[in-house]
Amino acid sequence: MNTSSNPLLDFSGLPRFSEINPEHITPAIEALLNENKAIIDEIRHDPQTPTWQSFVQPVVDANERLSRAWGQVSHLNAVMNTPELREIYNQNLPLITQFYAELSQDQRLFEKFKQLRASKEYETLSLARKKIVDDELRDFRLGGAELSPEKKQRFLKIQEALSELSSKFNDNLLDATNAFSLLIENAEEVSGIPEDVLHTARQMAEKDGRQGWKFTLHMPSYLPVQQYADNRILREKMYHAFYTRASEYNVTDDKNGEKNWDNMPLINKILELREEEAKLLGYKNYAEVSLATKMASSPQQVLDFLRELAAKAKPYAKKDLQELQQFAAEQLNLPKLETWDIPYASEKLRQARYAFSDQEVKQYFPENKVLPGMFKLVEKLYHISIVPADSVELEHQIQYWHPDVKLFDIFDAGGSLIGRFYVDLYARSTKRGGAWMDGAISRRRIGCEQGGSVVQIPVAYLTCNFSAPVEIKGKPRPALFTHNEVIVLFHEFGHGLHHLLTQVDDLNVSGINGVEWDAVELPSQFMENFCWEWDVLTEMTQHVETGESLPRALFDKMLAAKNFQSGMQMVRQIEFALFDMHLHYDFNPHGDKTVLQLLDEVRSEVAVIIPPDYNRFPNSFAHIFGGGYAAGYYSYKWAEVLSADAYGLFEENASSSIAGVMDADTGSRFKQEILAMGGSRPALESFVAFRGREPQMDALLRHNGMTA
Ligand SMILES: [Zn+2]
Repeated sequence: MNTSSNPLLDFSGLPRFSEINPEHITPAIEALLNENKAIIDEIRHDPQTPTWQSFVQPVVDANERLSRAWGQVSHLNAVMNTPELREIYNQNLPLITQFYAELSQDQRLFEKFKQLRASKEYETLSLARKKIVDDELRDFRLGGAELSPEKKQRFLKIQEALSELSSKFNDNLLDATNAFSLLIENAEEVSGIPEDVLHTARQMAEKDGRQGWKFTLHMPSYLPVQQYADNRILREKMYHAFYTRASEYNVTDDKNGEKNWDNMPLINKILELREEEAKLLGYKNYAEVSLATKMASSPQQVLDFLRELAAKAKPYAKKDLQELQQFAAEQLNLPKLETWDIPYASEKLRQARYAFSDQEVKQYFPENKVLPGMFKLVEKLYHISIVPADSVELEHQIQYWHPDVKLFDIFDAGGSLIGRFYVDLYARSTKRGGAWMDGAISRRRIGCEQGGSVVQIPVAYLTCNFSAPVEIKGKPRPALFTHNEVIVLFHEFGHGLHHLLTQVDDLNVSGINGVEWDAVELPSQFMENFCWEWDVLTEMTQHVETGESLPRALFDKMLAAKNFQSGMQMVRQIEFALFDMHLHYDFNPHGDKTVLQLLDEVRSEVAVIIPPDYNRFPNSFAHIFGGGYAAGYYSYKWAEVLSADAYGLFEENASSSIAGVMDADTGSRFKQEILAMGGSRPALESFVAFRGREPQMDALLRHNGMTA
């Protein structure tokens, strides 16, 4: 294969986006897979004692080429999707998945890692390299590498069955969601629902050749009905349909035979198989398997953590609910508040209390003020500078996938280039929804063994779906962001800085690589805090017409609204997390107690809202039954404690610093102990090195307005 003619096989610099065509993909992936298989095969049969240089490094190098090439393809598939690209992407995806699956179960590679671990060389390796070897051994063991042949066969059967069950769980949920719709023909019955939602509902009815409004259980339709529909019966009908999805209530007969979308039998089977898998691997329960790769050390530690947080939050949740009940009774003529009244009454209470709109706030956050403001903040904190990249580099034009994309360079205090990132902010029809950070190139040191080494500069993608700039009366107006979008931007930039400011020399643990799953949101959530700082906001706001920065009075209203019902929201998250942890820790899938009974117990302990009997929430809890969050749902709150507590040090040091919370000394320490270290040591060690002690939940409670 001629590498120079295929841009995906050029690893000398930045991706050559404008040259990549769908026809490059399959040949490039095929070539790389063949090359990798050949390299790995040679290594597997190498009779020499494995060393870092002869064994680990070649595998890392080979995998890096594949992941860089495939990373560009995945990226384009997510941001410049076309039917042609999607098809080729989907053709190649199983090959990649299979390659990594085989690699993770390769017995000979596992043996070689064990030999390396037992060798004298291991003792001489850096801490980062030791951790890479240890992580590999752990992952092999979790993949069943140490099981006897019969047990291994059973293990693989379980894995297969679990992946089928998860996929069936998601299919049932989607089918059940799609199967329901409600047509309303009387205009009085849709009062209160916003015009844009009604517009879509009318179009959907028209598609069916009907008059009126068609509502569905998809979020953009379901949520506004719950929040805004004055019609209580409509809200209840929709609520009932939503919370009985994929349950025994969805067993229906039709002409094509019986449709059974009930997820409960799948849930029981999934729990049984997870338990069996855990026992095969030598663990007491599946929660222990899940935590083997996480920062939390034991299921009991997680349970204690959640219960402590629940005890702190519950009084506030009760107060939130009482206020809501009182408001609903007095102002909305709802003397008995039902679960389908809660979003509706909450929205009305919010409007009554905090009279400002997102639209009003948005006028103060133009892109040309927000982006430089965010850069200025991290420049102060971390002694770096961020500048737009030159358009030409080493005689090559820098290539982009879309004209809206920009590339920025980060320099350290000494003027050396240390990282680069692409920013792609606006929504478009070819881009997948949401916002995310992804690594394009990871930092590593290359060529150490030949003496003179070079550092590979990390590169990141920052992708959002914000509204684009518009022309008003022929005059261009910059893009305007809601405050929530600004928070999203800071969040993703936080992930980006974790990837870009790393100082680790080994790929597998540089940046976010190798960071425990329940700690990876620390740097991102940490950044969100700055969006609530007056000193930061005055520097990054400017009314798009008047040029004024954000008025203090409006900021105070935003602050007051920030913690609206935070108690109720927190106990709800804790309810899900406790339910998930108990299911995978001390719940017996073969016992007398049912999944629903366990949920009832958890609710009676921590919840303030007890839903009606027919509520089948577990049947749609896709995070843990259809996704990767099993015995991991707690991670949301866990990482929030870490990020809030880390930010707490900035708050503590603010009073003694002229820069306030933007204190550069605290910033340097955060950069050095957390961002720079990446996954080269356990997250707890990094946290303690920064904070001087183990994490505490006080700061999170304070940030949520839960202090006496
Ligand atoms: Zn995140």
